[in-house]
Order: sequence, then C-alpha cells, then structure tokens
Amino acid sequence: MRDERIRKAEDLRNILRRIDGRGYKAYKDTEGIYAFENFTLFVDHVQGDPFATPSRARVRVPQQVAGFPNDTFKSKSREIALRDFLTRRFSESARKFCNGNRGTGKSGIISIDRPGQEILERTSAFIEEFHVEARFIMGLPAFGRRIAGRHAEAMFFDELPKIVESSLFFKSLDSKELYKHTETAEDADFLRNQLEKMNLVAFVADKSILPRASGIDQRPLTEGKVVPFESPKSLQVKVKLPNKGEITGMGIPKGITLIVGGGYHGKSTFLKALELGVYNHIPGDGREFVVTNPYAVKIRAEDGRRIEKADISPFITNLPFSQETKDFSTDNASGSTSQAANIIEALEVGAKLLLIDEDTSATNFMIRDHRMQELVSKDKEPITPFIDKAQQLHKDLGVSTILVIGGSGDYFDVADHVICMIKYKPHNLTKEAGEIVKKYKAERKPEGGMKFGKITERIPIAGSFDPRKGRKPVKVSPKGLKTIMFGLHHIDLSGIEQLVDTSQTHAIGDAIYFAMKHMDGKLTLKEIVDKILKDVKENGLDTLNYWPVGDYAVFRELELASAINRLRTLSVKQKG
Ligand code: ADP
Ligand code: MG
Repeated sequence: MRDERIRKAEDLRNILRRIDGRGYKAYKDTEGIYAFENFTLFVDHVQGDPFATPSRARVRVPQQVAGFPNDTFKSKSREIALRDFLTRRFSESARKFCNGNRGTGKSGIISIDRPGQEILERTSAFIEEFHVEARFIMGLPAFGRRIAGRHAEAMFFDELPKIVESSLFFKSLDSKELYKHTETAEDADFLRNQLEKMNLVAFVADKSILPRASGIDQRPLTEGKVVPFESPKSLQVKVKLPNKGEITGMGIPKGITLIVGGGYHGKSTFLKALELGVYNHIPGDGREFVVTNPYAVKIRAEDGRRIEKADISPFITNLPFSQETKDFSTDNASGSTSQAANIIEALEVGAKLLLIDEDTSATNFMIRDHRMQELVSKDKEPITPFIDKAQQLHKDLGVSTILVIGGSGDYFDVADHVICMIKYKPHNLTKEAGEIVKKYKAERKPEGGMKFGKITERIPIAGSFDPRKGRKPVKVSPKGLKTIMFGLHHIDLSGIEQLVDTSQTHAIGDAIYFAMKHMDGKLTLKEIVDKILKDVKENGLDTLNYWPVGDYAVFRELELASAINRLRTLSVKQKG
C-alpha cells in the first residue's frame, strides 16, 4: 500500500540504501511524499523497468521559500506565462545539473516538458499563492535490472535540490527576463482581445519577424537578409498595450482578404504567422505581437481522410451515382471533398476566420474559370468553388477569410482587401485590384446561389469510440505531434496545421476519452467540445486525468473536434 504520509527525506535515503542492488521492482517502495529542506517531493509513479517511460515526480516549493511576488502571476495571462517560464528554466537547470546517463536504458535522466516558441498553458508547472509546483520525470537508475541505489541517491539528494533552487526560487531567476516574459504574454492576450472591438481579424505589428529559421526549426530566421514586417500606411493601426505601450501594425479587417504576389515573395510565410497568431510567443520570437482571432482555423485539402456524415452540400452536390452530400461519408476523401469537409466541420464547432493557402488547396475547390464553366456545365460539376461561397460565409455566418492566392485574379471580384507581398513587404493594392475589376469584366458566372446553406450539427455515438488495447481497458497515447493512438486506432492529425506541441496532442487524446462520457446520444459534437474546454478553463487541464500529469498543454475546441472527426471508427447522427 502506498504511503500517503509526508515522510522525512532521510526515509527516502534509507529506502534507496536498503534496496540498492535489488531487483528493479523494489523501487516501488519509493512512491510517496517526502519533506526536503526546501520543498516537498512527491514520487507519484515508479516505472516498471529501466527502459519503460520514466517515473513521474513533482516538487512543491512553499512561497515562503520560492518568494514569487504577487505581480508575477496576478493575471491569468501572467500566471500562464510564468508557469511556462518556470518550465523552461527547470528544463535548462535539469540539463545543467543532471548527470544524465547512470546505467541501463533511461537511467539517470531528469527532465520536464520542453516548450517551443509558443507560450501555452501546461501542466508542467503551477504557481499559486502558497506554493510553486513542477512536474517532471526521472529515469530511476539501474545496471541491468539491479537498482543503482547510490546513483538514485545522488539524483534525489544532489541534483534535484540544485535544479529546484536554481529554477523555482524567484531570487535565482533573472527578474528582468521573467517580467518580460509575463508582460509580453499579457500584452499579446490584450491585443488579441482588442481585435473584435477594432473590427479586425488579425494584427501584425510593425518590425515583426515572420520567417522561421528553417522548415524544421521554428526559431526566427536570422541568417541572410531578413525583412522585418512593415504595414502599408493605409492599413496601419495603433494599439496601446498595457505593458509595452503604443505599437503600430497592420490590421486585417473582417471580410475577405487576399494575399497575392509573386512566387517566393513571402505569402505563405505571412499566412503561417497568422495561423499561429492564435498562440502567444516568447520574447525574441519575432511574432510576439502577431495575433489572430482565437477561432481562426487553417483549412487545407487532405485527400485520403475519412468523413463521417458531414453536410457538405453548401460546396458539393450531385455527385456521380447520386451519392448524398447532405450526409456525406467516405473512407477516402478527394482533395476537394476533404477541403469542403474541413470547412464545414470547422464551422460546425465555431470557426470565425478561415485561413487558406493555394499551396495546400485543391484547385478545383478554389476556382472554376469562365472557359471551364463553358466546357463543363454547372449540372455536370458537383463542386461550387470557394470563390462563390466566400462572401456568403461572411454575410450569412459572419466568418471571414484570409486567402493566399497568387494564381487567380477572378478572386478580386469577391475581395474586400487585396494585399500584395513584394519582396516580403505587404502593399495594399485593394484600389488597383478594384480598377482591374472594372476594366476587365469577369466573364465567369457566380454559381453559389443565394445563401451559404445550413450548417448541420452532428451527434457523436459513444459506441463508435473504443479505447481498449489488449487487456487494457483504456490505452490512449500520442505518437509524436501528429498521431494519436486511440486503442487500436490511429488518428492522423497531419492535416491539422495549428497543432504545435506534442503535449497538446497528448491532452487531446485524453480529452477524446473524456469526451465519451458526455456522449449521451443527444449532445452535439460542438456541445461536447465546448463542455470540455469550459471544464479545462475552469478546472485546469488536470481535469482530463485521475492523476497529475506533467505533459499536457492546452488545445482549442477546433483541434479537439478535428481529432474526433479523424477517428476512423467515428459514427454520428445528424441533429434534427
Ligand atoms: P510564397 O508563398 O510567396 O511563394 P514563402 O512565404 O514560401 O513565399 O517564402 C519564400 C522564402 O522566403 C522562404 O524561404 C521564407 O523563409 C523566406 N522569407 C519569407 N519572408 C521573409 C522575410 N520577411 N525576410 C526574409 N526571408 C523571408
Ligand atoms: Mg506559398
């Protein structure tokens, strides 16, 4: 039976000495709670062998010792940013003070979740009035399967206290850096919250650095010529941030905005920055004040995906052999049907801004030009291209679009704003595009009808979710960033471009399991994902598990729904 009393740190030392050299299972005896000089240690879960997932532990430092002033975490924004900051410092300290390899398998490691460029709410660190908590993993050391007790002792009694003292004590931290971190995040949240009032869907601060170091490195580009962002005067707006004060930048208004320009002039880079503008970024990232509507969603073609009873009729009707599109299902979607479904499913759970790049779109979904309309009449073409639906999306549903399209001037007809990227700098060419529209009349005929069409909500059926694997009743785990193993089923998230962190993937996987208990045959997918996010907002990510987990990061309704929609066994019924 696990000991729930708070024991003396020396008791842990004695256990380690006693079990030194014994079989690995004896490490189980260390599970429990220990009072160290400056913190309380929780050994929550001990791994089964030296190769298994490392053991889970936590430390709690009382604020009398940790000493964080109230203003370092007084607002929700600051609290989340400080927790992120502490995670980063703990991670650095662990790399510095932990000796690493101390035997077989994962022996000797101490590590904590490692954030990237985004500042996300995570379960790796917590701060509140009375204490600071960090959650980490330890590879309890062994040689073969024999416990290396002396090495474990060094980890717990030398390394861990150094890591804790250097990363979780306010006085050990660079306070300037700390405040910069929390204030930047607070400003970014403020800015994002201002968008609606300013009638904008996105804001990109002047001097932002949008390009990344490389396709596999999300840090800012520093080599060669890097062109900082500079708003065209006509779209420039000023905002006063609570900490940084006044900044200027480009405001992208609601409606339909095209990003045009020559190849390699920075269009996709610009859009990518907007996609990730739903998150806050660390100081020095270059995108600290690039923010988008929190319900912005990247839409792309994703052929091969499964679709379950989606009403894609606003975009697609009259498929060959009278396949139904009001409740369309397929195990192998085409480029265009997948892109249509991605939009419909995003609208179903509350998307407010669609971000689309021609690079990852199905051409026949985006445009049908005049000559093609002449050759293939409307009654032989199931697809209503996006160009004929974009304005209705805005008018009927209040959903804006930002679209990278270098290849079709037909889109000028439906655009509210046209931004042209020239050598990585945006120019407002709305007027010029308008003149071209007058001069060269469009010959294509709009095909979109009068209304966008109805969004049909769907009700997921709990029985179609099976988290079992072998003898385990529940086995859900992330496999890297873009895959969730749900029982025996792969969920492929490679088309979900706004997923940035494996800890989000982890949390989403567990949230799917958690969602099952809300599936009563009445609640819609939207109602279910909203419930879960509300619960997470009120009670934290810990609500997704029975025990404390150190590697969850926050996600949105949109990504959770996306993952559920990609479970290949999913079965739903339409509402109404
Ligand atoms: P497009 O979509 O217009 O074809 P990309 O956005 O893919 O162009 O950009 C092309 C290249 O230019 C990429 O390698 C990108 O990293 C780089 N790039 C983009 N913006 C900038 C910038 N502001 N300064 C320097 N290089 C940039
Ligand atoms: Mg591109």
